[in-house]
Amino acid sequence: MKGVDWYFKTNLLVRILLGLILGAAAGLIFGPKIEWVTPFGDIFVRLLKMIVMPVVMFTLIVGAASIHPARLGRVGVKALVIYMLTTVAALALGLIMGNLLSPGRGLQLVGAASAFGKDLAQPSLIDTLINVVPTNPFSAISSGDILPTIFFSLMFGIGVAYLRESDQARVQDAANIVFRFFEGGAEVMYKVVHWILQYAPIGVFALIAVVFGNQGAEAFGPLGMVTLSVYLALAVHMILVYGVLLSLFRINPMHFFTRAKEAIITAFVTRSSGGTLPVSLGIAKEKMGISKGVYSFTLPLGATINMDGTAIYQGVCAIFVGFAIGSPLTFGQQLTVIMTAVLASIGTAGVPGAGAIMLLMVLNSVGLTVEPGTKVAMAYAMIFGIDALLDMGRTALNVTGDLAVTCVVAKSEGEIDEAYWRKKDDEVAASAVLG
Ligand code: ASP
Repeated sequence: MKGVDWYFKTNLLVRILLGLILGAAAGLIFGPKIEWVTPFGDIFVRLLKMIVMPVVMFTLIVGAASIHPARLGRVGVKALVIYMLTTVAALALGLIMGNLLSPGRGLQLVGAASAFGKDLAQPSLIDTLINVVPTNPFSAISSGDILPTIFFSLMFGIGVAYLRESDQARVQDAANIVFRFFEGGAEVMYKVVHWILQYAPIGVFALIAVVFGNQGAEAFGPLGMVTLSVYLALAVHMILVYGVLLSLFRINPMHFFTRAKEAIITAFVTRSSGGTLPVSLGIAKEKMGISKGVYSFTLPLGATINMDGTAIYQGVCAIFVGFAIGSPLTFGQQLTVIMTAVLASIGTAGVPGAGAIMLLMVLNSVGLTVEPGTKVAMAYAMIFGIDALLDMGRTALNVTGDLAVTCVVAKSEGEIDEAYWRKKDDEVAASAVLG
């Protein structure tokens, strides 16, 4: 069983990348004859679909319940508001970049138009807004309606957060049990995701082989365009949004980036905001002179709910999928993407690859359901194949955003020690102590 041993011992990223490369090669060599591998891809798509609703529910409830209302003083509200505003800006940027560069345009994927046929009726914007409130949350969950499920999960989570701070011990206990239950559920779901990812290389191989079998080498271009669009938008957001935000609060962006670079690099290589948190905490304390009262709250909160890079990625990818299946997203659909993706980024855990799972729900909200055998599933598989590459960049931006907003909040509260910023950059580098 050497092959099986090799499979499970080799790094997952390497395997997914191999799946992508071998799939493309097999498609190019065998052409449309490769279609017999389709069921292997369908199984992968079904596995992903299987976990979307539980992952969304569990992680959003835990995310919302983790914000202690008692700590939601001025600092908390400021941080939350700026986190949300920068995320909306990120999404807008992702969508603009997607529209400008149109990755996926002209790609003629062969498959069913969508699960329900080509003319999937899009509800109007006002209907979309009203429908966010479920009349029956259980039916929303069971029929896979994403927005109402998010709405209900957030309300439920905020309720839990309040009761965990209740002054009645009995209520507090009960709320903590509920919290632990959902926290456990979220952990279990990530374990299941981990298992599903073990199958991902085979799924990616099959899905990509079929795309390349039907498309030939032309399928390479769109993937390059997706990567370019995501990275361009990430760079613009980093320089423009954070640069302007920091400047507005009289923090020199160059000084900021010099101090933040270890965290940015760590995030890039680990692809995990959560994993980078100790480094960010160390930087806020040792290199930025921010008071503990601010960073000890804003950084863990940011690592959990603030994902500007993920938002950009979801915007670009939603546009890509629209173009790739031959029905570009309408303006109304793009507004829905903003709404869902802001929420999705709150629910995205700070672990590698989480954004790609949440992308399923963003797509779902605009009627692009990933169903086996559909063009949507093929387009999704294409970006999934290069997810590691996209994840590195988006995680780096996620972490930069947490630090930038922390600086801004601290500055506005007078909780930043200016002496740390007068040091020369090379002195800062020499005195860096990373946690
Ligand atoms: N890996 C990202 C992070 O940890 C989340 C994502 O996959 O978008 O911030």
